[in-house]
Amino acid sequence: MIEPKTVLITGASSGIGAATARALADDGHQVFLGARRAEHLEHLVQEIVAAGGVAAFRRVDVTDTTDVRSFVSSAREHFGRVDVLVNNAGVMPLSPLAALKVDEWNRMIDVNIRGVLNGIAAALPVMQAQGSGHIVNIASVGAHEVVPTGAVYCATKHAVWAISEGLRQESSGDVRVTVVSPGVTESELAESISDESARKEMRVYRAVALPAEAISRAIAYAIDQPADVDVNEIIVRPVASAQ
Ligand code: NDP
Repeated sequence: MIEPKTVLITGASSGIGAATARALADDGHQVFLGARRAEHLEHLVQEIVAAGGVAAFRRVDVTDTTDVRSFVSSAREHFGRVDVLVNNAGVMPLSPLAALKVDEWNRMIDVNIRGVLNGIAAALPVMQAQGSGHIVNIASVGAHEVVPTGAVYCATKHAVWAISEGLRQESSGDVRVTVVSPGVTESELAESISDESARKEMRVYRAVALPAEAISRAIAYAIDQPADVDVNEIIVRPVASAQ
């Protein structure tokens, strides 16, 4: 029997975040969804509610510390608690460093690293006051390797891994910490690539991809463990993928 929880998910407007919202709501959790495309979130909430689930949303830009704090406060006002935060929002505009796409580097740093830190800053005090909570950070196989065109993206995901491990070590029994590292997964992620050579390479690399539900199941597994069990990391790759 799964204990129902209030689960906040950033980047819930597509891909892994949307699949996770559906899966967790199906399992009986109440989900609070955030992203910038509010109309996508609205449709997803309607779909979940029509299927008998409990869901609400608020538009959020994870790069904005104040906005993320308001997102977490709204969830607490709506559902009374914040049991789990899934820091899932991410972008991946890959390119060789020599292309000097400095704005895209900064965007990855802002969304992938600052976004996760903003989530922790907003949710951790609430979880500590409750005496329990769970932060789930979505990293990547790029947290464990570096590939050409992926220097900055992989750096941001190495950072997500390090932040997760540091938070785990500092959490004294009240907050669980999980980092989920997906391999290639069907989503909109590669659409942000503006560099033509990186786009071409990604088409080949992403030919073998997991459905987003494969990652949702890993997230659900970590959340649904007994309170004294902290699943620290899960790496999920397609069987046919070497990287
Ligand atoms: P998608 O592009 O489908 O989803 C990314 C989500 O992040 C969207 O919902 C987007 O919503 C949201 N997002 C982007 N920028 C912001 C922002 N500033 N504020 C709030 N939300 C934002 O890709 P995935 O589902 O694949 O990505 C989910 C996570 O999984 C990412 O962290 C990604 O790095 C990671 N990952 C994915 C892999 C894959 O192969 N798919 C492999 C390894 C890791 P909106 O635009 O509406 O704001």
